[in-house]
Amino acid sequence: MNHGITPNTNVMLHLGLGSFHRAHQAVYVQALIDSGDDSWALAGGNLRADMLDVIEALQQQNGQYTLETVAPNGERFYKTISAIRQIIPFDEQLSGLVDLGSSMQTKIISFTVTEAGYYLTDKDELDLTFADLHADLERVKSGAVGYSIYGALVTILKPRMANNAGPVTLLNCDNLRHNGKRFRKGLLQFIDLLGDTALKSWVEANTTSPNDMVDRITPRPTPAVRESVKAATGIDDPAALMGETFIQWVIEDNFIAGRPAWEKVGVEMVESVTPYEEAKIRILNASHSCIAWAGTLRGYTYIHEGTLDPEIRQLAFDYVTNDVMPCLTPSPLDLAAYRDVVLDRFSNEAIRDTNQRVAMDGFSKIPGYIAPTFRDCIAQGKSFDDVAVLPALFLTYLQRWHRGQIAYEYQDQAMNQAAAHAICESDDVVAAFCADATLWGSLANEPALVDAVRRAYGKVQRFNTAS
Ligand code: NAD
Repeated sequence: MNHGITPNTNVMLHLGLGSFHRAHQAVYVQALIDSGDDSWALAGGNLRADMLDVIEALQQQNGQYTLETVAPNGERFYKTISAIRQIIPFDEQLSGLVDLGSSMQTKIISFTVTEAGYYLTDKDELDLTFADLHADLERVKSGAVGYSIYGALVTILKPRMANNAGPVTLLNCDNLRHNGKRFRKGLLQFIDLLGDTALKSWVEANTTSPNDMVDRITPRPTPAVRESVKAATGIDDPAALMGETFIQWVIEDNFIAGRPAWEKVGVEMVESVTPYEEAKIRILNASHSCIAWAGTLRGYTYIHEGTLDPEIRQLAFDYVTNDVMPCLTPSPLDLAAYRDVVLDRFSNEAIRDTNQRVAMDGFSKIPGYIAPTFRDCIAQGKSFDDVAVLPALFLTYLQRWHRGQIAYEYQDQAMNQAAAHAICESDDVVAAFCADATLWGSLANEPALVDAVRRAYGKVQRFNTAS
């Protein structure tokens, strides 16, 4: 049963009510509620008019839904999640989000708006060449509502400041390196560009933005998930979703207005999340993209198919072992064991995670997940032939996209389509690809990068077998 939000409940308001929030953060809040601690509840909504059918289904179910989790051995578990006590449907004024976000009851505003929702350069400056961000800034400047994470937070925090509703933690739950720190820099720069010095001082004094590392593979739910949930529980749930049994959340303990007692339900509260996030982003996220790009080239649909293909698995294994591990050593983690667990998780046939979902947003993932290993290897004089395979696969994939030969729709919020087509039409595709500043930032045109990608590009053509 859903109890709504009672006056004494602390609220964590989540922006971006996608699958991941519902399979991850909501699970930890649910675990606390199940343990008898209902001092915190979730509320959430989207900053854009998407996923309308899921949002409506959730509203009709008072925020309740069934989560199916699947172990690597195929065993399935079912859990009812009712921690999201208020679903806020999208409206153009974001009125529901503004009302709750500017209320004293809300102590944490968390968000998942995808990696592409931050529009940051590799110097962590806002990249106003992104039309969406630029338009959002202009909208907010004119006094209208903002829909980017920065514009929306300005829209919410201004009335919060005016209401004296007190401090609030801004908790980024996206897969971004130093996600709290970098998002915060972007937010403060956005506010600077608005010239709102009062809001800037308020945000500096009344908010914190802890870095955190989030992990649980959560594929986009398919109709099969609804069927499997119905067969197992008897409940026909249009908002049902599925994830792997593995779950991890590591957070820097810097909450300005209190937090749920997450350490009681398995969240690792730490002083610095850096070693965990570097391992996660470079080993898990980058290998995932590697397998999705290579798997697509070989004509596979699912991640497990590519991971179980010995040649593709070897690419990911060599990338991690030869180029990532030397850069991340010493580490508090056992990196070889972490690599092996990750590859086992990707082999889980029951997850049926698609190459389509994991391959998306290459123009954010190359700079976020892959370019840092090049930088480290170049700076430390180490070899980078195995990491070069990843962009070479993406370039080959991009050429297939250019020719209309990807078996699904490729989505990439950071990609400038005209520029991407121009790369693929260039006489020297490798040089054009390595000159792209969105992909490479200050590494663009670096001769050592171009050489390594050129060698790898020749090698990966053997994966380009499907048409
Ligand atoms: P999803 O497609 O189910 O939901 C995406 C959410 O982001 C939606 O709420 C959408 O409205 C919002 N959004 C997208 N682009 C936006 C933008 N530019 N500005 C504002 N809002 C925007 O995806 P998901 O599975 O929930 O994943 C979301 C993010 O969560 C990922 O990008 C990643 O950073 C993080 N994550 C996901 C997984 C996973 O396995 N799904 C694992 C770890 C971390």
